[in-house]
Amino acid sequence: MNIDMVAYCDRFPEDGETLVGSSYAQGFGGKGANQAVMAARLGATTRFVGCVGDDDLGRATIDNLDESGIDVSGIGVLAGHGTGVAPIWVNRDGTNRILIIPGANDALTPDHVTSHLAGLDRAAVVVGQLETPQDATLAAFEWARSHGATKVLNPAPAADLDDRLLAATDWLIPNETEFALLTGDAPTEAAVERWAQEWGCGFVVTLGADGVIVADGSNAPWREAARQVRVVDTTGAGDAFVGGFAAGLAAGMLIRGCVSLGGACGSLSTTRQGTQSSYPDRAEVADLGVSVPVW
Ligand code: ADP
Repeated sequence: MNIDMVAYCDRFPEDGETLVGSSYAQGFGGKGANQAVMAARLGATTRFVGCVGDDDLGRATIDNLDESGIDVSGIGVLAGHGTGVAPIWVNRDGTNRILIIPGANDALTPDHVTSHLAGLDRAAVVVGQLETPQDATLAAFEWARSHGATKVLNPAPAADLDDRLLAATDWLIPNETEFALLTGDAPTEAAVERWAQEWGCGFVVTLGADGVIVADGSNAPWREAARQVRVVDTTGAGDAFVGGFAAGLAAGMLIRGCVSLGGACGSLSTTRQGTQSSYPDRAEVADLGVSVPVW
């Protein structure tokens, strides 16, 4: 979880230069938080496990997830750590430069994860990302394995994967860049299929306006095109996809349905400014003729 701090400017300052920017916006972000908000908006019962700092930003982050209908009892408030922040510069062309300061996210431990999942009887799906230490995500996936939950890993931001985490993953959902970094290959159907077999997991590679490539381990790999939409802001589209896909899995939908649901969430999110604020609800997805989860 982190707070996005977005400064808009005509051009980026050079080294040592001070410039006056044009506007500023602050919003709730972090891949896991965005994905949880998307799943909750589709009606999934969602619990978040993570850490914030003992500061105003942390309290606001928890309140935001709570107001989004997410169970926040798994969120630790850590003294001596700041809440994660992401200072972002966006220039007139829409190009961005982003720094992530993980703060309390880096302090998430396997013990915290295990103890905050202990009271939970069951979960259908556990979703992890790489904004927290991989050993903590592995602890969540081990809990998932012993409770029959499907494990979905969004390997973002791009990083090398711990072999044990990869082995515990049922569905890997990278974007194009992350796929290339993980495998050294460009995302073609053949490459996605080969790596899905090599790693023994399902694969969905998201390709922005070009949709997705899916290899599910039983059918031949396939492509699903993205909807043609009037794009305003693509920030957070990947997280909308992951949240929608995970909600579909949790509701027992077939993989093709989960992919369509994730795609609809991703595409609709690009038609509005912002991240979580751009995410659609059930009605908007259903209006596109896409099946929504039945709980
Ligand atoms: P990320 O934000 O992680 O880079 P992508 O850009 O691949 O993720 O977007 C995830 C999904 O969101 C895509 O598979 C697609 O369904 C949808 N999407 C993203 N950009 C567009 C776009 N320009 N037009 C239509 N749909 C889009």
